[in-house]
Amino acid sequence: MKLTIHRGARTIGGTCIELESDGWRLFLDLGLPLMHSDGTQFDFKEEDQSAAELIEQGILPDLEGIYADQLRDDRVAVLLSHAHRDHWGLMGWLHSEMPVWASPGTVRLLNVTALFVPTVRLPATIHEFKMWQPFRFGPFTITPYLADHSAPDAASFLIESDQGRRVFYSGDIRAHGRKGVVFERLLKDPPRDVDALLLEGTMLGRGGTQKFADEQAIEEELVQLARPQDRTIFFFCSSQNIDRVCSAYRAAKRTDSIFVIDLYTACVLDQLNELFEHIPHPDWGPTIRVRYWRSHAQRLDEAGNLDLVYRLKKSQIKDEELAANANRAIILAKSNTLFDIEASRLPEKQTIELVWSMWDGYLNGEDRISRFAAAQGIEIKRIHTSGHAVIEDLQRLARAIQPAKVIPIHTLEPARYVDYFENVEIVKDGESILL
Ligand SMILES: [Zn+2]
Repeated sequence: MKLTIHRGARTIGGTCIELESDGWRLFLDLGLPLMHSDGTQFDFKEEDQSAAELIEQGILPDLEGIYADQLRDDRVAVLLSHAHRDHWGLMGWLHSEMPVWASPGTVRLLNVTALFVPTVRLPATIHEFKMWQPFRFGPFTITPYLADHSAPDAASFLIESDQGRRVFYSGDIRAHGRKGVVFERLLKDPPRDVDALLLEGTMLGRGGTQKFADEQAIEEELVQLARPQDRTIFFFCSSQNIDRVCSAYRAAKRTDSIFVIDLYTACVLDQLNELFEHIPHPDWGPTIRVRYWRSHAQRLDEAGNLDLVYRLKKSQIKDEELAANANRAIILAKSNTLFDIEASRLPEKQTIELVWSMWDGYLNGEDRISRFAAAQGIEIKRIHTSGHAVIEDLQRLARAIQPAKVIPIHTLEPARYVDYFENVEIVKDGESILL
């Protein structure tokens, strides 16, 4: 089996790995880069361009037989580990008949994203795999493992060739989320005889430790903040970070607060609750209530999905009711204009708490939230735990699997792997190795 890293050997984002056996090729993720190769910020507007143009600019990996404007090689397929854009964002340029596999939760999230962001391009069809159930493509047997990550229903993959070569791809993984139990299960019953472990190392460049140890710690901190019921909490987190949304929901329930979400988040939860019944549904009132922003309702209308808007009517919370309950509201907020509007509709002199529950790198002082906080004289509270494993947990994973090689992926610090793992082999972007 030949392993090639097209991108991701020394970057976070834009992951694309190729496995080749007997002329058959399997791609692991096809992510949107977060940066250009020269380190400048990637601009999403570039999505309007053709595959050939994007290859020219080094954004799409330069591959044959897989893109829309190429002659399709029918011995090629793509596996998607999870619903983060830096793993799936370039899939819209695949040939329309390209077989793509993803988990059911990932498929739901991609569809909701496409519903609300019309410029997003998705593959024509995505096959759904079931966790822990092996499936075949050419000479490959693929077993997805449910992974604990900030994207729900994320997967790691064990890929075995008919020649008996075995690769384990961690995808994005951690042990300290709400599904930490699946990480421990993997350690107890790890895949054997693995030739190469493609191991993500996001945290190697981020200090390796963190202030809030796990999702439970996030929930507890939020409970402390909400319990006095003397302020409105704007909670900034991704609607698709379901572990975090659950933490906020649970904190609201424990403190008799109202967790206020928007129609987009309601749509995400509605879709995922059909698959996983423990995920809070927007009609689980009175703890969870929905804001009806016209832009969201319009999107749902244009996409022919107005039924959700009607179904959730009884969960809707209007301006007056929200203002009357301003001291017991935890409002899920984003860095868009809606949060300013929401704040402006609260009673005068209402105490506001801004809680940032995402990666710190998105707050740069010039963003909307930092400017709002500065103008109002509010300090932004940071309550966050990473979607990625701390170094110690990565080490536990490597020790359990005991691979012949540990190959760095999804990291800014490949050279530091040798400080933490045995049998490290650095494969550079564009480089191939034989297993
Ligand atoms: Zn991710």
